[in-house]
Amino acid sequence: MNERDARRALVDAARRLDDAGLNHNSSGNLGVRVGDHVLVTPSGVPAVAMSPDDPVLLTADGVPAHPSQRVPTSEWQLHVEIFRARPHVHAVVHTHSPEASAAATLGRAVPAVHYVVARFGAAELPCAPYATYGSIELARRVASTLGEHGTACLMANHGAIAVGRDLTAATALALDVEWFCGVHRRGRQVGEPVVLDESEIARVAEMFRTYGQPDQWSGSS
Ligand SMILES: [Zn+2]
Repeated sequence: MNERDARRALVDAARRLDDAGLNHNSSGNLGVRVGDHVLVTPSGVPAVAMSPDDPVLLTADGVPAHPSQRVPTSEWQLHVEIFRARPHVHAVVHTHSPEASAAATLGRAVPAVHYVVARFGAAELPCAPYATYGSIELARRVASTLGEHGTACLMANHGAIAVGRDLTAATALALDVEWFCGVHRRGRQVGEPVVLDESEIARVAEMFRTYGQPDQWSGSS
């Protein structure tokens, strides 16, 4: 994807997250790989007011690539660190979505109460330990929690992150995270949810690899 298309795609994805209720005002942020650079959403610009000129192009080390750009999201290190750690990840979506953020206040993983957890590349939805927003500590903790195969995690007392091969996949996964956290919360309200074991999640993960249409089979990371 060239830079111009990436700018448009980033704005479209930011608006979809707003429309779906996953982000609001200027909460959350997105990043997409453009060649060996990283394009991230600007700081403090609501999706509804964002134009394709607003996203900020950074080098792989996080240095602004153009003069006179907007200020990048305060959490740009999150994107740079994940793209550095995961060469096959091309899009990062960070949300402050209600269900995921509520689950993240508990500071622990959400167990496999639904087989959809297999989409997250682990047998649970993990939770990265808390660190101040925008800090390199937080970026490293999230990248470490995702590990080599994780596609999503909570961020303690903060929100959630989802990654994918493109913005469409990462955005869809962010929706899955939100739905999954809501299912867990509602299950806990009416009883003690049964947790699926790791072998079942591994079986479902294998099935997901060939779910849907063949052109969707390339996986999300
Ligand atoms: Zn955040």
